[in-house]
Amino acid sequence: MKPDAASALIHHNYQPPAGFDAPQVGVHKASTVLFKNVAAMRARDWRSKAGYTYGLHGTPTTFVLEERIAALEGGKHCLLVPSGLAAIALVDQALLAPGDEILLPSNVYGPSRELARTDLARLGITHRLYDPLDAAALAGLIGARTRLVWLEAAGSVTMEFPDLRGLVAAARHRGVATALDNTWGAGLAFDAFALGIDIVVQALTKFPSGGGDVLMGSVTTRDDTLHERLKLTHMHLGLGVGGNDAELVLRSLSSMPLRYRAHDAAARELAGWLAARPEVARVLHPALPSCPGHAHWRELCTDAAGLFSVLFQARYTQQQVDRFVDGLRLFGIGYSWAGPRSLAVPYDLKAMRPGGGLEGHLVRFSIGLEEAQALRADIEQSLRAAFG
Ligand SMILES: *Cc1c(COP(=O)(O)O)cnc(C)c1O
Repeated sequence: MKPDAASALIHHNYQPPAGFDAPQVGVHKASTVLFKNVAAMRARDWRSKAGYTYGLHGTPTTFVLEERIAALEGGKHCLLVPSGLAAIALVDQALLAPGDEILLPSNVYGPSRELARTDLARLGITHRLYDPLDAAALAGLIGARTRLVWLEAAGSVTMEFPDLRGLVAAARHRGVATALDNTWGAGLAFDAFALGIDIVVQALTKFPSGGGDVLMGSVTTRDDTLHERLKLTHMHLGLGVGGNDAELVLRSLSSMPLRYRAHDAAARELAGWLAARPEVARVLHPALPSCPGHAHWRELCTDAAGLFSVLFQARYTQQQVDRFVDGLRLFGIGYSWAGPRSLAVPYDLKAMRPGGGLEGHLVRFSIGLEEAQALRADIEQSLRAAFG
C-alpha cells in the first residue's frame, strides 16, 4: 500500500466555518448560489475553484471530496460523477470524435465494452480488444485513428493483472492517451500517475464508499488541459453529485485503508484454501502465482482488493455451480462489491474474456468484512451440498 495512505486521508487541510473547529466536513447543498451583485455574477468563472457559481458546478462538500480523491490518486484535478460507469462514459465522451478508435482490454468491465459496442459505435467511434498481458500486441494494434487506450488492473471477473508498465509505454510511444479504471486498486494498491497514466477513474461506489449504499464515480487527472476538456463535457452533460452522498463517501474515506487490508487478508486466506479444494480447478487472485499476470502484480503491489474468482472442475455442470451459489448463507448474490457483505456471482466465462484460454464454470467472490472462518465454513457446507 502507498506509504501512510491513512494519514493522508484523515489529515487534510479542510477549513471548517470560522469558529467551528470540527475536523469532519459539513454537508452543503444547493442548486442556487447567490452572487453579491451583478458584477460578481458577470465575473463568475466555473473553471476556478475560488468561488461557487451553481450547485451543479460544486459545493464546499463536493470540492473537499474532489481534493481528497485527487490527493489519494496522486493527481491534481478531480471531477465527481453519479456512478463509476458515468466516469467511464465521461472520459469517452470528452476525448472521442467520429472516426476515432479506442482500445479496450479483453477482460474490461462489461458495461464499458457495451458502451463502446452500442452508443460509441452509433457516433462512428470504433473499438478493438487487446490482450492486457501482451504489451507488444497492443503496440501492434495502435493505428492512426487510435485516440485512447483503456486500462484496468486487475481485470473484472477474470482478475489478470496487466502489464501496466508495458501497456502505458506502448501507448505513450505513439502519443495515445491512457485511462485507467482504478476501482480495484482504489488509489491505495499502486500509484497510477507515477506509471505515466493520463486519466484515472474510480467507482467510488466500491471501496471509498464501503457501505454498499452510494453510487459515485471520479475522474482524476494531473494535466490542466486534459482536465479542462473533461470539465467542459462534465458541465455540458449536467453531471453532478448530491451533498449527502458526497458526505457519506467523505465519512468512509478515512477508514478505507483499514477496510482494504481487512478485505484483502480474508480474501487471500479463502483464495488459498479454495485453491487446494478438490472441487476447484483454479483460483484467479492476482496474489496467487497461478493467476495470469501475477508477476506484474508483484512488480507494483503488495496489497490486493478482496476479490477473486474460482473455476470449478470441468466435470461439474452449471446447475451444480448455481446450486453451490444458491446454497451459500453468508454470501449475497449481487454485483457491487467492497461493502461489508460478502458476495458471490456466477459469470459466463466466454462473455467475460473472449479467447482468454480459461475454461470451466466461474464464480466471482467478493469478500466482505465478516470473519474469514465463518465464510470458510459457509463455503464448505455449500460445496458439500452442491458437489457431494
Ligand atoms: C462497479 C464498477 C464500475 C462501475 O461503477 P458503478 O458506480 O456501479 O457504475 C466500473 N468499473 C469497475 C471495475 C467496477 O467494479
